[in-house]
Amino acid sequence: MSSYDLIVIGTGPGGYVCAIRAAQLGLKVAVVEKRATFGGTCLNIGCIPSKALLHASHRFEEAGHSFAKMGIKVSAPELDHAALLGFKDQAVEGNTKGVAFLMKKNKIDTFHGTASIPAPGKIDIALADGSQQTLEAKAIVIATGSDVAKLPGIAIDETRIVSSTGAIALEKVPGKLLVVGAGVIGLELGSVWRRLGAQVTVVEYLDRILPGMDLDVAKSFQRILEKQGVAFKLGAKVTGVDSSGDTLKVSVEPAAGGEAQALEADVVLVAIGRVAYTEGLGLEALGVEKDARGRVVTDHYYRTSVPGIFAIGDAIAGPMLAHKAEDEGVALAELLAGQAGHVNYEVIPSVVYTFPEVASVGKTEEELKQAGTAYKVGKFPFLANGRAKANDETDGFVKILADATTDRVLGAHIIGSEAGELIHECAVLMEFGGSSEDLARTCHAHPTRSEAVKEAAMAVEKRAIHM
Ligand code: FAD
Repeated sequence: MSSYDLIVIGTGPGGYVCAIRAAQLGLKVAVVEKRATFGGTCLNIGCIPSKALLHASHRFEEAGHSFAKMGIKVSAPELDHAALLGFKDQAVEGNTKGVAFLMKKNKIDTFHGTASIPAPGKIDIALADGSQQTLEAKAIVIATGSDVAKLPGIAIDETRIVSSTGAIALEKVPGKLLVVGAGVIGLELGSVWRRLGAQVTVVEYLDRILPGMDLDVAKSFQRILEKQGVAFKLGAKVTGVDSSGDTLKVSVEPAAGGEAQALEADVVLVAIGRVAYTEGLGLEALGVEKDARGRVVTDHYYRTSVPGIFAIGDAIAGPMLAHKAEDEGVALAELLAGQAGHVNYEVIPSVVYTFPEVASVGKTEEELKQAGTAYKVGKFPFLANGRAKANDETDGFVKILADATTDRVLGAHIIGSEAGELIHECAVLMEFGGSSEDLARTCHAHPTRSEAVKEAAMAVEKRAIHM
């Protein structure tokens, strides 16, 4: 029986990164993946295909709306739907093949099949070719990720009633798309299809969009999306979808109770969140503890309640983000190799890849208020930023939250073109315990959008220059 220092179950961003880092540190490593390709949710049906579609649909919209005012005359763009899906598939293939190459390069043994854990130190694999194999390992990592959260009573067929998986592969642009859930995935994929011509309505249970993000940012972002043509029904719940006719009839009720309304749609996208996925691993029999939401319970060192079994990524608590899973993968590999790996959960950026983008790191104003922390706010609009004006991309602002006493930056929130890139100077600053003064005194190149970050830091002490 083959024996390893480490076997990782699942090759999403958590699993494959953990395997590579462990191999770099000299451990004998194997991975087991039940999909035909490596890369997990993120590379196959998540981050990468959605970003390819967001990129392509943004270019489509730019060609139709923004080129003319820059003096670029083009005829109205036409959509080649098959080529669009092909562009997305190519992005997925390039990335998943890249992971396969890295597995080989790092001499990691790979097994395609479904893993279960019959006992600590042992893995059974139902291999893709129908055979069985058992492996031994000193350490086993559960990196099995997450799955789509289902809405009770609404059956997903991935054709007309879709999850994100169906929504990245629609055969044509729907006339009317109803999105259930105003979280990141719903707003990103809603934006894709709106840009390509769909009439999009987002139904959200809460009275706000982007739960968990800074409220000021969420409100402002909602206004921008409404200007773009997205309709919102907040404080409302979808209670059923009648799919008997050619058009879907969606029952929507006020969240607080009241009369139901029927909305028509060609496609319904259920995007109410994701749940940890650990099915079939045999965790119950092993006694691996899970929380009320089905997530594997781990300590600070990613140890589960059973010695020798560890867990990372979407399968455990914390934000369901690829980079959080990756950093946990690195930290765990380093811990297993006797080093001191750790993840700073206070500084995990999060980005909505719409146009404009929304990016956030650290605390929101609501969280600071709730914790009773005295804070100062510095805000700077892109309308007053030279580069944003030159590019005619002035929607949004930068908001910096700093401790009222120490000036340490506690949170940064940005709406704007390239916000997902801009946020990282704030993340690095926060990782080093920097202050708004540090940011304000750092020379920033002109003309860049990053100057808005510096000016927001200056605005903390009410000394922004261009406002
Ligand atoms: P996963 O990526 O889910 O990988 C788990 C793997 O384990 C899967 O490949 C699965 O097949 C395998 N597996 C499960 N059980 C077994 C078993 N028993 N045996 C063998 N293999 C098994 N995050 C971001 O940070 N940025 C984004 O832009 C972003 N966009 C997203 C867009 C969409 C549409 C979706 C759905 C998600 C997006 N996410 C994004 C979230 C991101 O995909 C996840 O946070 C990330 O993939 C979690 O990584 P993971 O390694 O924990 O698990």
